[in-house]
Amino acid sequence: MAFDFTDEQTAVRETARRFAREKVQPGYQAREREGKIDRALIRDMGALGLIAPELPENLGGLGLSSLTSGLIAEEIGYADLNVAYMQILSSLNGAILARHASPDLGREWITRLVAGEAVVAIALTEPRGGSDAAHLALSARRDGDRYVLRGEKSSISMADQADATIVFARTGRAEEGARGVSAFLVPMQSPGIAVTRFDDLGSRAIGRCSIFFDDVVVPATHRLADEGAGFVQVMQGFDFSRALIGLQVLGAAQASLDESWAYAHQREAFGAPIARNQGVTFPLAEGETLVAAARQLCYHTLSLRDAGKPHTAEAAMCKWLAPKTAVDVIHQCLLVHGHYGYSLDLPHQQRMRDVMGLEIGDGTAQIMKLIIAREKAGRVAVQYDKGGKK
Ligand SMILES: Cc1cc2nc3c(=O)[nH]c(=O)nc-3n(C[C@H](O)[C@H](O)[C@H](O)COP(=O)(O)OP(=O)(O)OC[C@H]3O[C@@H](n4cnc5c(N)ncnc54)[C@H](O)[C@@H]3O)c2cc1C
Repeated sequence: MAFDFTDEQTAVRETARRFAREKVQPGYQAREREGKIDRALIRDMGALGLIAPELPENLGGLGLSSLTSGLIAEEIGYADLNVAYMQILSSLNGAILARHASPDLGREWITRLVAGEAVVAIALTEPRGGSDAAHLALSARRDGDRYVLRGEKSSISMADQADATIVFARTGRAEEGARGVSAFLVPMQSPGIAVTRFDDLGSRAIGRCSIFFDDVVVPATHRLADEGAGFVQVMQGFDFSRALIGLQVLGAAQASLDESWAYAHQREAFGAPIARNQGVTFPLAEGETLVAAARQLCYHTLSLRDAGKPHTAEAAMCKWLAPKTAVDVIHQCLLVHGHYGYSLDLPHQQRMRDVMGLEIGDGTAQIMKLIIAREKAGRVAVQYDKGGKK
């Protein structure tokens, strides 16, 4: 499918590109040292309409297409893929709130998200495992018109910068699996919450944390979707974020490619620019090809979403192919820069470390392939007995 962007999409992309190159890109490496995303920058993106513009207008969004949101994630990802977490998290969590929160709660938080005035994290993974996400243990006990949350979430992006977190918790019995899980919007200032940050290989401006819930009280009005339907209904939002993550990391790979072509022109060896060697240009040409192909897959997936068509398998394809492609391409770009590429002064090593996190976050390649297999072959492809055997 060829993409002929509308005038509106082209204009939004231009705005995102200008903002990204002028305001975001220069601080990419400094943000890693600071270990956070500056709130003023997030507010600036919100003021320009660059955060989750696809959310419905009646809830504070701009009502634009999912594809438009993808174009923004790609442009911000080109400049700093960590800042683009704001696009991904806000679109994912905004969609969940728009569909499953009460209108008052949804409007309050979506308005703040879109304006860049609030950061909302999402907490599914627990210490015992993330791939088998439905078998989570954190409990939510109903107590009149409130729930009491107890347990631990692990590996949660931005938990120590977030104003609230969407938390998946068990309201039913363990044997119920996915059917006994509910989702809640939990303000991070709630008494009983303790957050500890991990010491990570990359994306240090985002930070991954564990969150302890020691009898944290949440009003029943903060439950998202029906009780016990949190997993089945709310998880559908991940089809959206997976295509956006694809564009976020492909943007980063494109930045390394662009810098590598320029370097190959300028750097000389054996009396000529290194670009004269096909050993230099062919790996870059292959990188351009793979990035272009993965990008089209992401655009296609988002356009399926915009058309209201199924896109679960396509989203899973984006989520495993794009981060793997980006890591491989950025690695190759680092090598093109010779010994300079190995220095911490150049951004390629940071991009590679940052993108690697998204080979795992939001589901690994193996789990994405399981999803694709389930879509093609049916549940027989994913049914396990208690011993883990099919
Ligand atoms: C940068 C980053 C950001 C993250 N952000 C968040 C966040 O914001 N919120 C959140 O909830 N979580 C987040 N996570 C956690 C992430 O979703 C999990 O790490 C991921 O789902 C894998 O779970 P796990 O680490 O427990 O690995 P495990 O589930 O223990 O799996 C370990 C390995 O076994 C493989 N494996 C497991 N089951 C199968 C199977 N059936 N077939 C084949 N292979 C299998 C996996 O692919 C993996 O390679 C983040 C992780 C990272 C790295």
